[in-house]
Amino acid sequence: MSLAPAKNRAPTPKPWIEAIHAYVPGKSSGADGRPLIKLSANENPLGTSPAALAARAAAVEPSLYPDPDSTALRRALGELHDIDPARILCGTGSGELLTLAASAYAGPGDEVLYVRYGFSLYEIAARRCGATPVVAPDADYGTDVDALLSLVSERTRVVFIANPNNPTGSFLPRDELARLHAGLPSEVLLVVDQAYVEYVAPEDDDGALALAAAHGNVLVTRTFSKAYGLAGERVGWATGATELIEVLNRIRGPFNLSNSAQAVALAAVRDVRFVEHSRLHNLQTRARFVQALEALGNHGIRPLPSEANFVLVTFEGALTAEVAYNGLAERGYIVRWLPGQGLPHALRFTVGHTHDMDAIAAALRQMAEASK
Ligand SMILES: *Cc1c(COP(=O)(O)O)cnc(C)c1O
Repeated sequence: MSLAPAKNRAPTPKPWIEAIHAYVPGKSSGADGRPLIKLSANENPLGTSPAALAARAAAVEPSLYPDPDSTALRRALGELHDIDPARILCGTGSGELLTLAASAYAGPGDEVLYVRYGFSLYEIAARRCGATPVVAPDADYGTDVDALLSLVSERTRVVFIANPNNPTGSFLPRDELARLHAGLPSEVLLVVDQAYVEYVAPEDDDGALALAAAHGNVLVTRTFSKAYGLAGERVGWATGATELIEVLNRIRGPFNLSNSAQAVALAAVRDVRFVEHSRLHNLQTRARFVQALEALGNHGIRPLPSEANFVLVTFEGALTAEVAYNGLAERGYIVRWLPGQGLPHALRFTVGHTHDMDAIAAALRQMAEASK
């Protein structure tokens, strides 16, 4: 059989790449293009640390390549968290590092395991390297350690867990995370994605950093995109055994953090007060929002417990999640509806300013009462 003339043939992506659906980001405008108050991407409603903004203005000139190793930033992170900088790797957002972790340790024929309602990037990371995603059932939207462990096979290479998890907000306590780790063979990499860790009460430490310091098969990722208010600068970092960090370092983008990203993140690391202020604002406003929604239980509206800067709310009554989503958009708010993640009956609300969350709770009550 002869091939068609070259000019008629297009490059063919690998079959595992064909299977990927592009990541769906939170929207920032309504169907008519009108800008809305954005509570769909878990960004920090308090903005960015003023010190970080000042550092951006002063960043090195753009004609020069950045420090390829983000040396000053890794040193500052090491000091803050008491970690040897040799065990820290910075990434273009933690998303780069999650993807690298899958690519380095899994490939065609291997399995990558995570929970149902896990972060949507894990499926993309698994498929991108040709591995097979394996999804463990949830326990009332939370992580079920036994379900995860029962799906570990001789093909499992990487287990992803976000703690707290997005989009559910659920949190796996220290003893459960330790139990998950203890149940995994030592050649399986456990990735603990702590994108929202700054919002967790300090006394509820899940112990992931200690696991990463003590074991050769634990990688912890963190980000500047949420509590640090730097989503637009694309900065994340990971820590684990030196051997893990060295492997990921070989396959990352060579100059992955721009000059301004490094300068801004360095200033942000030092401004611990901004992060603490963000945590307290979130704690208070989230509790107030959850309390307001708990009063709507008779309408089938249920806020799930959250340790993060968002709340997942299920709608099982006359007011559906889709109708609520559209009603809120009409009132100027864009939140996250996740039918593509198996959650057509739920909305995820980023915790914004208190007056906005009050207005949303009041609007939901109004819509629920009108749809009885
Ligand atoms: C937002 C988020 C991240 C952070 O992604 P970046 O690439 O660092 O912006 C990572 N994991 C989870 C679960 C998230 O929700």
